[in-house]
Amino acid sequence: MGKTGREIRPLVAGNWKMNGLKASLGEAMAVRDALQGPLASLPAEVMIAPPATLIAGFAAELGSSPVLLAGQDCHPKPSGAHTGDIAAEMLKDAGASAVIVGHSERRTDHGETSADVRAKAEAAHRAGLVAIVCIGETHAERLAGSTLAVVCGQLEESMPELSTAANTVVAYEPVWAIGTGLTPSPDDVKDVHGAIRARLVAQLGVEGEAMRILYGGSVKPDNAATLMAVENVDGALVGGASLKASDFLAIVRAYENV
Ligand code: PEP
Repeated sequence: MGKTGREIRPLVAGNWKMNGLKASLGEAMAVRDALQGPLASLPAEVMIAPPATLIAGFAAELGSSPVLLAGQDCHPKPSGAHTGDIAAEMLKDAGASAVIVGHSERRTDHGETSADVRAKAEAAHRAGLVAIVCIGETHAERLAGSTLAVVCGQLEESMPELSTAANTVVAYEPVWAIGTGLTPSPDDVKDVHGAIRARLVAQLGVEGEAMRILYGGSVKPDNAATLMAVENVDGALVGGASLKASDFLAIVRAYENV
């Protein structure tokens, strides 16, 4: 049982974005070594989402270690004439157990809509991957007071109907907090995560009760424990601070004594 008093196993996932070469394997190995050594009894799951080019190589080196691997995006279809795209089945084949869908950088850079995100999450489920569905408001939407409406709307439109706590994770990532060093206050995070929980329960019943809701957006070693202690925060999606094993492990350690 975690700080929230609920039986949810937290997840700390690192999104490397378009960073990392084969030489970065050392960072993943350092995370593995800590999880097999001093952090062996950590109650949280730990995941790295490297660029797709590295998944198979990392999987081969990490073997059956506690470090889970994820993709950062997938195409809705299992195969076909889609140059440059990667199917969920390919990520699974390479050794991933999850895929991030709907990251705000995908929504912004590639014009992905919530309908697209839902199709990608369905593809993840079809392939046997956990879908990590990202949602979050822009700064303008927060200033306009529409955070909860935006986030709940994205949730409703992005989540496949048959989502379960086992095959789906929600990541609340305020767009204005990503890569900026800014974070919402713990009270603001509590309000948004509480609203997400209520919406998940309304949509999915008991599955919504048990579904993990991650916070993402400038999670760092010095704010992780505070953010992870907020009610209905079941882990973190970490960008910049996941690139160095020492920083990422300092964040993971927020769960050391929970
Ligand atoms: C992200 O992009 O998912 C993210 C949370 O980035 P950062 O931690 O760098 O803000």
